[in-house]
Amino acid sequence: MMIGRDITTVIEQYGPILSHFFEHVSDMVFLMKVEEDLTFTYVIVNPAAMRTAGLREEAYGKRIDDIYSGEKAALLNSKYREAVLVGKPVSFIEGFDGYEESILTPIFNAEGECTHVFSVTRDITERKRTEEKLHYMAYHDILTGLPNRRLLQERIEQAIELAIEGGTLAALMYVDCDKFKSVNDSRGHDIGDELLQGVAKRLSNCVREVDTVARLGGDEFIVLLTDMTSISEIERIAQRVVDVMQQPWKFREHKFATTASIGIALCPLHATTMSELLSKADIALYQAKNRGRNCFQIYT
Ligand code: GH3
Ligand code: MG
Repeated sequence: MMIGRDITTVIEQYGPILSHFFEHVSDMVFLMKVEEDLTFTYVIVNPAAMRTAGLREEAYGKRIDDIYSGEKAALLNSKYREAVLVGKPVSFIEGFDGYEESILTPIFNAEGECTHVFSVTRDITERKRTEEKLHYMAYHDILTGLPNRRLLQERIEQAIELAIEGGTLAALMYVDCDKFKSVNDSRGHDIGDELLQGVAKRLSNCVREVDTVARLGGDEFIVLLTDMTSISEIERIAQRVVDVMQQPWKFREHKFATTASIGIALCPLHATTMSELLSKADIALYQAKNRGRNCFQIYT
């Protein structure tokens, strides 16, 4: 059934405009002939496709395998075959060199045989990069680059599962800088920010790859240790954090020292949910602050 005008009339009437469109449209357009062995040869390639795919006039009549190799050739061949075999448009995104989104439309002759596949491919690299950036921003703290509360939640859930299934311990350390306000007040907010970035680096250096350091907000950080086997090991790491936090800082002309206090809750000993772990670690932190700061306290 014909939708809209008859294409022959359209071509007669708008031929020059259509060829202008074909020449200048920024999407890549390919017409591929379906060969008997279900390989595909280039029939029509618009200039955008020539440029982006790095093709030349010699590509006409060649097969995909003559132009591409490896994974890219395998992917293109399999997607074109899929379009022929399912007889419906197939769309896919490939990310070999930037990101490209393609829609392959099979074309049938009067006998119902698929003779060609028409492909329109768009470079979506910029959109993908923006999506990746938004995704990163949704899960990280922008000032320090550390995981934020949302990503921490996922990591805590994994750590709880691992502890319960493996019969090990997960330790949630609530780290809060002591007298942080006075740094802001006496040296300015910018130095306060640099201090927070410095704290993020020092905390990250205290733990293994598998552990998580996150920033909850303000001067509050979480260190999540997973798959721990003893309380003494956790205490040793907590003391290491206390020790590195009192090393002197130097930001531009500002030299000073600060300290931090830590409250610790253990899974499964004290809690088996994120909110309970956080609140018990917070209670322990309060106790550490009351004990005079610059120390750690395990929840009791
Ligand atoms: P305490 O020893 O009891 O923890 O005292 P404190 O001064 O550290 O008090 P608190 O932890 O409540 O203070 C956190 C302060 O951090 C309050 C707020 O002004 C400041 N702050 C929060 N977010 C930021 C930030 O992104 N940058 C900077 N520079 N300061 C921040
Ligand atoms: Mg504080």
